[in-house]
Amino acid sequence: MIAVLMPVFNEGDIIYQNVQTVHELLQKEAIEHTFLLVDDGSRDRTWEEMNRLADDLPGVTLLRLSRNFGKEAALCAGLEHAEGDAVLVMDADLQHPPACIPEMVRLWRQEGYDVVEGVKRSRGKESFFAKGFALLFYRSFRKSTGMDIGVASDFKLMDRTVVEAWKQFGEKDTFFRGLSAWEGFRRYALPFDVAPRAGGKSKWSLRALVRLAIRSLTSYTAAPLFFVFWLGVATGFAALLMIVDTLYNFFSGRAATGFSTVILLQLLIGSAIMLSLSVIGLYVAKIYEEVKGRPRYLLRQVRKPEQKEKDHG
Ligand code: UDP
Ligand code: MG
Repeated sequence: MIAVLMPVFNEGDIIYQNVQTVHELLQKEAIEHTFLLVDDGSRDRTWEEMNRLADDLPGVTLLRLSRNFGKEAALCAGLEHAEGDAVLVMDADLQHPPACIPEMVRLWRQEGYDVVEGVKRSRGKESFFAKGFALLFYRSFRKSTGMDIGVASDFKLMDRTVVEAWKQFGEKDTFFRGLSAWEGFRRYALPFDVAPRAGGKSKWSLRALVRLAIRSLTSYTAAPLFFVFWLGVATGFAALLMIVDTLYNFFSGRAATGFSTVILLQLLIGSAIMLSLSVIGLYVAKIYEEVKGRPRYLLRQVRKPEQKEKDHG
């Protein structure tokens, strides 16, 4: 039995139809399944639509977070509550093609893979800027952590053992894609083409993406701190050269008129210091977040499959 986990945020227009589509496909393929839908504090009629699904389909569990905590937190909530021998994580907008699911299940069940991971063959329709940013991010992630999450996606089938291992992570600030690469296990990468969104629009702004990129890099690697170290070494070396040069000029009677040099140096050193401080600050902020030990999400409501009465809170 597999549990299909979907984080849902403001997908009121499409969620009903999309879950129905997945349900019909799985039923046709005779794959036993349940649904676990996590409403990530939607502000439209998503929760009502999810309840309609729970009324109409068997085995639908609903979680509702107290506000919008973000996709990562919604996934956490889902994984912590998911039952079943395997958990299939997919987006609610059908950008992760349901047609791949039977093959994923086969690889897990028959070939014995613990994680079957959807890997983007093409990134679908994205702006040039978004593509470049994604490439740059994955490259620095690989270089600094030694883990290639390359074209990985959140479209994943995970065996129970992997989910249990995942639950042991104490950190609050998670990056789902990275964590599952860190875990190891027997993995299989299944290429798929990102489908266009089935209605609605993407919830990611550029700012949110930059934040996610910084968060995930700082959770996996301290490499930026080393970068700051080397930056310091480089500036120090440059300064040394300049000192030698200035002294030479001084003793050979061609003393530098200096003012612009001083300004330039000030600027250079000032920016290097600020950059370094901000990098250290990022890690301190991270420690602060973790030390506070706040829960990753708060549940407002849970609806189990057996609760058939309408409870639209
Ligand atoms: N999502 C969520 N919380 C958020 C933003 C998004 O649960 O704060 C869900 C969303 O409903 C969808 C999935 O995460 O099921 C992927 O979101 P989206 O399609 O907006 O991202 P994209 O496909 O553009 O990367
Ligand atoms: Mg999407």
